[in-house]
Amino acid sequence: MPVAPRAALMAFLARHQRFLLTTHINPDGDAIGSEVAFARWLRAQGKQVRILNDSPTPLAFEWLTQDDPIDVHEDALTERLFSEADALVVLDTSNRPRIGRISFSLDRHAIAVAIVDHHATHDGFGQVNVVEPDKAATACLVFELMRAAGSPIDTRAAEALYVGLATDTGYFRYSNTDASAFEMAAALVRLGVDPQAVTTRVQASAPPGRLRFFGEALTALEMLEGGRLAVLEVGPDAFERHQLTGADTEGLVDMPRAIAGVELVALFSEGKPGRVKVSLRSTGRVEVDQLCSRLGGGGHPHAAGVLLMGSRADVRARILPELSQLLAALDAAPARGAAGA
Ligand code: 5GP
Ligand code: MN
Repeated sequence: MPVAPRAALMAFLARHQRFLLTTHINPDGDAIGSEVAFARWLRAQGKQVRILNDSPTPLAFEWLTQDDPIDVHEDALTERLFSEADALVVLDTSNRPRIGRISFSLDRHAIAVAIVDHHATHDGFGQVNVVEPDKAATACLVFELMRAAGSPIDTRAAEALYVGLATDTGYFRYSNTDASAFEMAAALVRLGVDPQAVTTRVQASAPPGRLRFFGEALTALEMLEGGRLAVLEVGPDAFERHQLTGADTEGLVDMPRAIAGVELVALFSEGKPGRVKVSLRSTGRVEVDQLCSRLGGGGHPHAAGVLLMGSRADVRARILPELSQLLAALDAAPARGAAGA
């Protein structure tokens, strides 16, 4: 009989000694929070741990990494860390290309891989794949694993897990917010998390240019499909003018969800010319992960994304008709509700 993934992971952690942790490109709060908590968990067991990501840690989460530094990919460093490690744990993604340049070293090193993730769209490239899409955040999984192992969770680990949980649920507003999310939050607060202090540290980290950039993008907001589809677009010139990077769009795509009648929001973000990051959000009735998955991206039913090459006009021309179709299917389908969806 196959071993259940969680048990297989515990055996995997027990049989290795020198761990390398990584996560997806442009890491968010769940990615960084899960890495920090996981690193502390392993270190408390006497394991050797390094954390290495393709992209730098956003300023908002840097404070979490004070005692658990996160290295950023450089060819020589990545090669060295791979040769020193005997196991790789990938957190918050199970799509190999999503770990960016770290995946090139995976081709060259025979290293054991375990995945801990909550995305429904996955290829599970580990020997061990703990992928639980019903979890609101990867941090929830890490929390449950630590609890089940009877491992103590110190205040810093609790803060890291809280950041993962809070950011992935939109501070307990999105459809993935369930009773267990609140139970976990309560447990973390009992372990020493100060929600107000943590939220301030995460949210009060934007340069003024970020709000001006948001202002410009929101001024140009387009309402299509009879007001059911909100579209935002940002180009390389705006990123440059405000000295921002791709990660600075975090939160922008969520804002038009506030408009009455909106079913879908699309953000076309061209950080570098010819590379357009598409972010899609649904207010609950339409599912967008399959569309992103088909184009090489992925995510969750109500929040997904994909990176496409081409001009913003090209990418819009590929995506917008697909979104129209999703909305048309909604018209054709019987209303939800009675079925309890
Ligand atoms: P965002 O639009 O905020 O970048 O991402 C929304 C959700 O979709 C997140 O859960 C994120 O991990 C996932 N996602 C975004 N872009 C990609 C992508 O290119 N590939 C995959 N597999 N998932 C993505
Ligand atoms: Mn996540």
